[in-house]
Amino acid sequence: MSGSVIVVTSGKGGVGKTTATASIGAALATMGPSVALIDADIGLRNLDLVLGLEGRIFHNLVDVVDGVVDAHKALIRHKDIKNLSLLPAAQSRDKTAVTPEKMRAVADELKSTFDFVIIDCPAGIEQGFKNAVAGAEKAIVVTTPEMSAVRDADRIIGMLEHEGIAEPWLIINRIRFDMVKKHDMLDVNDVLEHLKIELLGVIPDDEAIIVATNKGVPVVMDEKSKAGRAFRDVAARIMGEDVPMAAAAEEEDWFTRIIRWFARARG
Ligand code: ADP
Ligand code: MG
Repeated sequence: MSGSVIVVTSGKGGVGKTTATASIGAALATMGPSVALIDADIGLRNLDLVLGLEGRIFHNLVDVVDGVVDAHKALIRHKDIKNLSLLPAAQSRDKTAVTPEKMRAVADELKSTFDFVIIDCPAGIEQGFKNAVAGAEKAIVVTTPEMSAVRDADRIIGMLEHEGIAEPWLIINRIRFDMVKKHDMLDVNDVLEHLKIELLGVIPDDEAIIVATNKGVPVVMDEKSKAGRAFRDVAARIMGEDVPMAAAAEEEDWFTRIIRWFARARG
């Protein structure tokens, strides 16, 4: 058996890579496949917090590449999602310990037993990026609907190609349909015109993500969250299901609908 290795990347920081890695990983694992997440953001680890696993870390990625411990032994299993495991990043150790060759070896080792290995990439285009993408066969590029993020995503798409990862998937995160309607935000088509890669999902801006992150419970476990639903749809698409795009995200909730009705009624 050999699983697929997917890197989640963006160029710009703060656009939702870690959120996407945790959410997609949790959604896939809930659907059945086994999933190992690797936090490659050395020095700025976050994935453990988003997954509520920060209190259970004994070993990390740098220990594994240093040969202190085997990759499988360093994994932390999720408390509630039994098919989900995490290889945390080192918090303070020297990042030069990791090289593309060593990352590839870690990814190869994990993919021998997991259906999916998903790597959370650091921001930027430096060594951390090159390490994170080294063992990956497929990439998910995350952007927000802002020109600065789109431009960085474009740069990253070029760099991925250079690293031999063609045809990455795109996730547009934190979209606000109220702002798009008022032409105050780029819409999905504007972003696609710039990036011209396959759209994997559109994730609404959703407070439930902040609540979920603070609780350390992946947002996909929240049945009511629109972002959670959108990430579950992304996971289903990765599994090859034909899920219509953005249907859930574009639906207005009842509150927005009532506000709009009043606004119209008042002329
Ligand atoms: P990155 O890993 O790219 O730096 P994060 O995943 O850490 O980005 O997200 C940055 C911040 O944005 C976090 O506080 C996260 O909770 C928030 N965030 C991400 N996606 C969304 C969303 N769809 N709606 C609301 N907040 C979000
Ligand atoms: Mg991050």
